Amino acid sequence: MKKFLIATAAFVAAVAALVGFSIQPRRVLLPPAPDDGAVPGAFHVHTNRSDGLSGPDAIAAAAARAGLKFVIFTDHGDGTHRPDPPSYRSGVLCLDGVEISTNGGHYVALDMPPAPYPLAGAARDVVEDVRRIGGFGIAAHPDSGKPQLRWQAWDAPIDGVEMLSLDTGWRLWVEDARTPAGKWAARRHLAAAILDYPFRPAETIAGLIRSGETLNAEWAGIAAWRPAVTLGGVDAHARLDLQDDPVDARFALPLPGYESSFRVLSIRVRPERALTGDAVADAALVMRAIRAGHLYTAVDAVATPPSFEFTATSAEGMAREGDQLTAGAPVTMRVRSNAPPAFTATLWNGMQIVGSEHREQDFTLTLPAGEAGEYWVEIRAPGRPRGAWGGRTTVTSLPWIRSNPIYVRGPAEPPRAAARPAATVREPMFNGSSTEGWRAEHDPTSLAVVETVTMVGGAELRLRYGLAGGHSPGRVAALAFDTPGGIAAHDRLALTLRGERPMRISIQLRIGDAGDRWSRSIYVAPAHEERTIFFDDFTPHGATSTPRPPLGEIRSILFVIDATNFKPGDSGRMWIKQAELQH
Ligand SMILES: [Zn+2]
Ligand SMILES: [Zn+2]
Repeated sequence: MKKFLIATAAFVAAVAALVGFSIQPRRVLLPPAPDDGAVPGAFHVHTNRSDGLSGPDAIAAAAARAGLKFVIFTDHGDGTHRPDPPSYRSGVLCLDGVEISTNGGHYVALDMPPAPYPLAGAARDVVEDVRRIGGFGIAAHPDSGKPQLRWQAWDAPIDGVEMLSLDTGWRLWVEDARTPAGKWAARRHLAAAILDYPFRPAETIAGLIRSGETLNAEWAGIAAWRPAVTLGGVDAHARLDLQDDPVDARFALPLPGYESSFRVLSIRVRPERALTGDAVADAALVMRAIRAGHLYTAVDAVATPPSFEFTATSAEGMAREGDQLTAGAPVTMRVRSNAPPAFTATLWNGMQIVGSEHREQDFTLTLPAGEAGEYWVEIRAPGRPRGAWGGRTTVTSLPWIRSNPIYVRGPAEPPRAAARPAATVREPMFNGSSTEGWRAEHDPTSLAVVETVTMVGGAELRLRYGLAGGHSPGRVAALAFDTPGGIAAHDRLALTLRGERPMRISIQLRIGDAGDRWSRSIYVAPAHEERTIFFDDFTPHGATSTPRPPLGEIRSILFVIDATNFKPGDSGRMWIKQAELQH
């Protein structure tokens, strides 16, 4: 018994020592500062409607305790579910968005009516759909440690980037703990975090933040030619999955809690006018501000409450975060905050530092020639030794505030991608009178029929389809055009087509009857539209022997209705007026 007590006491002492050495410094509680007019809220929150722990009421109550004024729910979905109308719960404005899984990462869509069909498939196609439907899309946790969660489609016209993600932070440490090189340092850091968490939850989570730095280049690449809003996401689930299957809750810990997450990171939005308490009107104000980039991100677990303003003034007037000035004339940038003296502010232009090591709470920088660029501000807290009890010591500063950019633009339009040369050779695929060369394909439980129909203006090909119900992922109905000699003499497909209602079909190039396939999906509108699809734009559909389709070996071109963008049991019609192989 005595031995046991001694052992227990030694263990407690060891834990206390470890916590003492490793624990993150307590957040800096800042003295009252001038109100900067910003409204604090949390972006990227999961409820129990997807893989979060609690319902909207409990989450809103946690947000209220953390001092937030709004939360943005982003449960996983395909966009077809009608978002909940805005509401006030516990005095917190609740907005409802959706986090869509694409083949190239997760994409959060806000402020969007229900999609006419499930949004899924290639990331660039989901980006296109969200934009067409009228939503505001944000690449979620784009630098995730998990390859399938990492954002791939940096060329797509995304509206925003989640530059800081609490979910990414700990995942990167977990990934490191699996590699031979960083294994022990990462395991020590995670073990210390688990020990420290009960004592200083928010500070401990903030100590795991790693994302942001590697994304600057990707973001700057986009922002150089069009606005791209940056914001931090809590990605709060109140569940720590201990295995890869996110649906299996048996292996999840209820950590970190919603309230702790909300105390780590907030977005601070500047609406055009004060919120009134009317949920619908206030939601519109908050969303307008987010769309305009009128916001900054603060890591409250480092220091709180923040007060921050970033403005740029030229002869044209004054611009705030998210706004634009014309290049050429002198521009004066002003940064004002309530940062403690040890914190340092850096003014960036895209990836370039314009001014750094600013410790003043109020400073200006004048660019005499008003050079074009995307100017943004970052304020960081000083570094503290990390892993001090484990031997090697690293000092990493923590981000505190990240602004949105002020764009200084030249009069010239940014360069656009050159258009492809027009086709000179056209080979019709549809003879204008019969289904010759065309046939239908379908799985045993679905239906597909191809026929010609006479319309005003001539005959058209019509596909009638009826997909099997239930959960069979193999359901498929397709219109097939056979190309016995391959399609190497051509580089594109030109179509005039329409659907019974808005739909997204997959065009596939296939070797033989069941060989490798490459695909490219297109939106089909209810009115006839001309579309040109280039063969070098096709990507592998499942595993293929080559990344690009070997055009000489392609035996069929398929127009596919399948489980990706159609619901089980769906039926309808699609018409093709013209189809040509071209080059
Ligand atoms: Zn996600
Ligand atoms: Zn998420």
